[in-house]
Amino acid sequence: MAIKAPKGTKDILPSEIENWHNIEKIASDVFTKANFKEIRTPIFEDTDLFERGVGDTTDIVNKEMYTFIKSDRSLTLRPENTAGVVRAYLEHGFHRESPPVKLWYKGPMFRYERPQAGRQRQFHQIGVEMFGIQDASADAECIMLATEFLHGLGLNDLVVEINSLGCNVCRQEYKEQLKKTIAPFLDGLCEDCRSRYEKNPLRILDCKNETCNKLFEENNLKESISGIKLCDECSTHYMQLKSYLDALNIKYVENTFLVRGLDYYTKTVFEIKSNNLGSQNAVCGGGRYDGLVETLGGPHTPAVGWAMGVERLNSLIPQLETSKIDYFVVSDNKVEAVKLAAKLRKEGFSVEFDYNSRKFAKQLEKASKIANKAIILGEDEIQNNYLTVKNLSDSTQLKMTFEDIIKE
Ligand code: ATP
Ligand code: MG
Repeated sequence: MAIKAPKGTKDILPSEIENWHNIEKIASDVFTKANFKEIRTPIFEDTDLFERGVGDTTDIVNKEMYTFIKSDRSLTLRPENTAGVVRAYLEHGFHRESPPVKLWYKGPMFRYERPQAGRQRQFHQIGVEMFGIQDASADAECIMLATEFLHGLGLNDLVVEINSLGCNVCRQEYKEQLKKTIAPFLDGLCEDCRSRYEKNPLRILDCKNETCNKLFEENNLKESISGIKLCDECSTHYMQLKSYLDALNIKYVENTFLVRGLDYYTKTVFEIKSNNLGSQNAVCGGGRYDGLVETLGGPHTPAVGWAMGVERLNSLIPQLETSKIDYFVVSDNKVEAVKLAAKLRKEGFSVEFDYNSRKFAKQLEKASKIANKAIILGEDEIQNNYLTVKNLSDSTQLKMTFEDIIKE
């Protein structure tokens, strides 16, 4: 039996690659203008990094990691890239540079999840991380970067949801209040939520299980849970974020139930959602993670960032057609054809020729499928040192020299 790609993975085919290049180019342009530098970290890291960095109460660490042992070392395919970027940031002493340190990345991530539309086991993220700035202007800049990037892709009807999770102090009180409200319904919640109840009750608000969602709705639980009560510092920070967003003309919706799936967030969290994605509706998720650098062994360092799912983004934008090459050399003299192709390629053109010296009609048929123009190099052309250039979109033909082509 023929071998297929593993479940939850997808080939990105030549017919699709132009969209990917386009997305990556726009990302790079937008981030570079804001002085973010690209970083590429390994696809696998010590398992420990994710257990400490992502958090051992998260679905990612508990259920979704691809972990393997090599020479007694436990390694894991990265399920996300913030932990890896923080590891590299510390390993290379970026924390000794004057802040901010602004980094971006792109690449594959791996999570053992149930594959469905918009959810794969190998998927791709583009993300940014900004270190060293406590002020809410950093949060606003990150959110602006995300919206600029999305606008660059022609996506203008997405909704930015924001919330503040406060600090450990404000969160503690909220957790207690939450637990009290949920306690009578605990038996009706899914297994995950029952274990979250003790370890990380906030995450119950982020549950995607139907049963839990129904139970919350039927008992109007969300109405009885008011939002988190922020301490003065966190509340000021959140207000400042909103005024920066207003000043930048970025529209947002406040969602007091937005908690996000990772443990490391503090203060600001946000998601960007589309109404055209069905149930996997988030294209971007991020927030502030002031404790993570310290958790991973560095000095206390405020930080904020986000990650976008490239497959979900891609499904929202029109597919670009594969662009045609510049020239197809039509000839029955293979040596001359190869030489001409090489000369043209040196001048920067994309060029193909026929490896089998088939009949001109066959070659032209192929040419019109893949190239903008055909260069006919027959006996007469070779003898008299000219080229016949045929425009394949309107079938017009011109006699030209090589120099004419370069000049054109
Ligand atoms: P979700 O709630 O959809 O599982 P998440 O909170 O786990 O998302 P993050 O870890 O914040 O997602 O990742 C940021 C973005 O990466 C998501 O908004 C989504 O667009 C994308 N993403 C996450 N997991 C997957 C996946 N398994 N397949 C495809 N895209 C994904
Ligand atoms: Mg998830």
